[in-house]
Amino acid sequence: MKECLNVPVFRIISDIAAEENVKAFVIGGFVRDCILNRPSKDIDIVVLGSGIDFAGKVAKRLGKKRLNVFKNFGTAMLQAGDFEVEFVGARKESYRQESRKPIVEDGSLEDDQNRRDFTINAMAISLNSESYGQLIDPFDGVCDLGNKIIRTPLDPNTTFSDDPLRMMRAIRFASQLGFQIEASCFASIQQNRNRIKIVSMERVTDELNKIVLSPKPSVGFIMLEATGILDIIFPEFQALKGVDESGGQRHKDNFYHTLQVLDNIASVSNNLWLRWAAILHDIAKPLTKKFEPDLGWTFHGHEFLGSKMVPSIFRRMKLPLHESMRYVQNLVMLHLRPIVLSQEIVTDSAVRRLLFDAGENIEDLMTLCEADITSKNPNTVRKHLSNFQKVREKMIELEARDSIRNFQPPISGDDVQDAFGIKPCREIGIIKNHIKDAILDGIIPNDFDAAWDLMVSKGAELKLDVRLSKEELKAIAMVRGS
Ligand code: ATP
Ligand code: MG
Repeated sequence: MKECLNVPVFRIISDIAAEENVKAFVIGGFVRDCILNRPSKDIDIVVLGSGIDFAGKVAKRLGKKRLNVFKNFGTAMLQAGDFEVEFVGARKESYRQESRKPIVEDGSLEDDQNRRDFTINAMAISLNSESYGQLIDPFDGVCDLGNKIIRTPLDPNTTFSDDPLRMMRAIRFASQLGFQIEASCFASIQQNRNRIKIVSMERVTDELNKIVLSPKPSVGFIMLEATGILDIIFPEFQALKGVDESGGQRHKDNFYHTLQVLDNIASVSNNLWLRWAAILHDIAKPLTKKFEPDLGWTFHGHEFLGSKMVPSIFRRMKLPLHESMRYVQNLVMLHLRPIVLSQEIVTDSAVRRLLFDAGENIEDLMTLCEADITSKNPNTVRKHLSNFQKVREKMIELEARDSIRNFQPPISGDDVQDAFGIKPCREIGIIKNHIKDAILDGIIPNDFDAAWDLMVSKGAELKLDVRLSKEELKAIAMVRGS
């Protein structure tokens, strides 16, 4: 296993272990990823003794002033080149029925390996001179890696009941690595699923986001659903599953459709929030579903209701509530617009409005819409894609001419107030919208002079007189920076 140890910090740790007569091992994710040939920047070191003391010595040898010590956890972390190295003393954990917090005692390497979550995460490599580079693999993790199996070292019911987050981690590793969860382990997750409720939402969401970011996220979501965990942590997504029939007509299963859209997005983008937009684009379909005899199954307004559901879902899941959430809301809200557009004659005005409403998100919106075409009929797919191409061409043409994407109306609300010498009132909004609509509809160009003329005529209609000349307002607006 020596090829895993060609990072300089391992030699230093090994030297200090010899000098101090302390046993040290690299363990867990780094060992797993090295055998899998996956690059990994986190190194976990376990020592028989105090992890914090040992880390202090390594830091000193490296000439490091910074060492992050977490006294409560008995761990310390330092940065060595590109690598984050965490040190911990080997420990034994025993869980009691009545508490989630284990009793932690110093332990042997074997104790420490026993408390690990999966066989593939329990492997260690010796950093000690007499056995440098030797793999210590008590549960045959190498074999499970080869067979692509997630399995717990001990009885799965104990492992999952002790720390229910491990259920999410099992599914997350299966999704990230494309592995199977061993059958008794899977059954145990089903059985223990309700215990996920005692884990904090932050930790659950951390793992969920790793599933979302995995190469083919549907793998993880299908397991979340099959184990019953999805219904507990994300009932809105669970509700997408199923097909209703009325008058011999069936709608598509929106759970599998959404997963396909998510996989499509995952194959072209690593943007977590674009992936979340895929997850949520049809989230309101169950709530808006209706059978109308003339039309069949409809989901009117699911894009509006869906975008309204985003904040409460984000809040409950402890996802960030600012830009990322607004971005997801915007995409959910607009996800039908390019499709509607491509089915009609593509007017300049409709494309300008789409550019205005999507702003900087327009490229991602188009990517989402293309991913949303999950028809099995190649002719339908081809037709939609070529219509989208037309919309894209029109967007490029209009954007070059009118710069709508970062559109700031050439006359602001403050400008309108100053021009007419009025205080904030309803008329200002009317005039501003009138100018905006005229620009988006291509009635006037996107410039100050044209907007001025329109403002004056609309003002006259509303019985308002201008108090300034065009040049005076221009000068004021310039100073204001609008
Ligand atoms: P990644 O860093 O890619 O998320 P990892 O396996 O390194 O994967 P970490 O969360 O960094 O995961 O944990 C490091 C190691 O600590 C794991 O490999 C595992 O041995 C152990 N571990 C982490 N979380 C748990 C847990 N909840 N129960 C038992 N062991 C755990
Ligand atoms: Mg790690």
